[in-house]
Amino acid sequence: MPERRSDPAGILDRPPAAAAEVLAAWCAAQGLPAFRARQLQPYLWQRPLPGWQEATDLPRPLREALDRDWPLGRLELATEQRSVDGTRKFLWRLPDGEAIESVLIPTGERRTLCISSQAGCALGCIFCATGRMGFRRNLTPFEVAGQAREVALRYPAETPTNIVFMGLGEPLLNWPAVDVALTILNHPDGLGIGARHITVSTVGIVPGMAALAARPEQFRLAISLHAADPERRRPLMPIEKKYPLAAVLEAARAFTKRITFEYVMIAEQNDTDRDADHLGRLARKMGALVNLLPLHPGGAPGLTPAPPARIRAFADRLKHQGVEVVVRRSRGLDISAACGQLRVETESRRPRARAPGTVAG
Ligand code: SAH
Ligand code: SF4
Repeated sequence: MPERRSDPAGILDRPPAAAAEVLAAWCAAQGLPAFRARQLQPYLWQRPLPGWQEATDLPRPLREALDRDWPLGRLELATEQRSVDGTRKFLWRLPDGEAIESVLIPTGERRTLCISSQAGCALGCIFCATGRMGFRRNLTPFEVAGQAREVALRYPAETPTNIVFMGLGEPLLNWPAVDVALTILNHPDGLGIGARHITVSTVGIVPGMAALAARPEQFRLAISLHAADPERRRPLMPIEKKYPLAAVLEAARAFTKRITFEYVMIAEQNDTDRDADHLGRLARKMGALVNLLPLHPGGAPGLTPAPPARIRAFADRLKHQGVEVVVRRSRGLDISAACGQLRVETESRRPRARAPGTVAG
């Protein structure tokens, strides 16, 4: 019987350099020449394979030994939906029955993959569908970075060029796994996506922000602000009590690259001229870009999206203050694929058998 490894982490749960070391040591222990280990490494992330059996340049006994000792992890696809605008939503089923989602959004030459970092989320922002699920568990490094690997395996022509951590979960509350996943996504021996094309979105978990800022690469930071003063923010986002806005903004100063403020437009909660003026002042002070997101009502029963004319007026007011503003278009609305609308609904849906690829209403 093969000896059990004391360290249960899979080969795809490790940063590329660590995975290479593990494979080199394993090859040496098998009495294999060093070139074999170098031959294996690209199949992890650079030219991903679904399984070792597909590595047809390797001798069959080696493939079998690799499948036994260092199997290549997969995310099981539960459902996939495609929007009329080309957006694809993937629901992955994890081995313990949890489920997470990723959304691939094509825009011109760019293909942005929105990935999950946790199953559910503990933070309970009142407008967010994931928040309503509650927290289930943290994802492993492979489960985070593997979302991009799976998309690349399934659609080689649609390999993601950009990553945003805007799916399920709060990435900076799962820092150990997100830390490794960032390395895998960015490193040339990993998926090789430039740090400037990887955005971590957070409500402002101060210790996590410090950890992210301490990394040498310049990953982009998006702060989910949603209100520019604490009194307005508190009822929307319970985290304001633990990490007050002032502390979040202080932590943001450690980022040298320009940051983004995410701002979901909710009627009467945060969409007045006064809100715009507060936000404008803050964005100017921080040199931040502002992303205005129309509220997806799917995430928030009881809240009303700000009307389009209000969003335009709000955006103009910011522009007049010299702030750069983008009003985000909603993508994949017909498949509930927009950020903040992600919520794993399979528990209630499981009994209803559905044909693969059906688009939910
Ligand atoms: N937890 C992190 C990242 C995941 S949420 C964060 O909150 O930043 C990703 C983005 O979707 C956040 O900016 C969040 O505010 C936004 N969002 C949540 N609910 C939404 C909704 N109902 N409509 C539009 N955007 C929403
Ligand atoms: Fe969690 Fe982000 Fe949703 Fe808030 S907006 S509940 S932090 S996923």
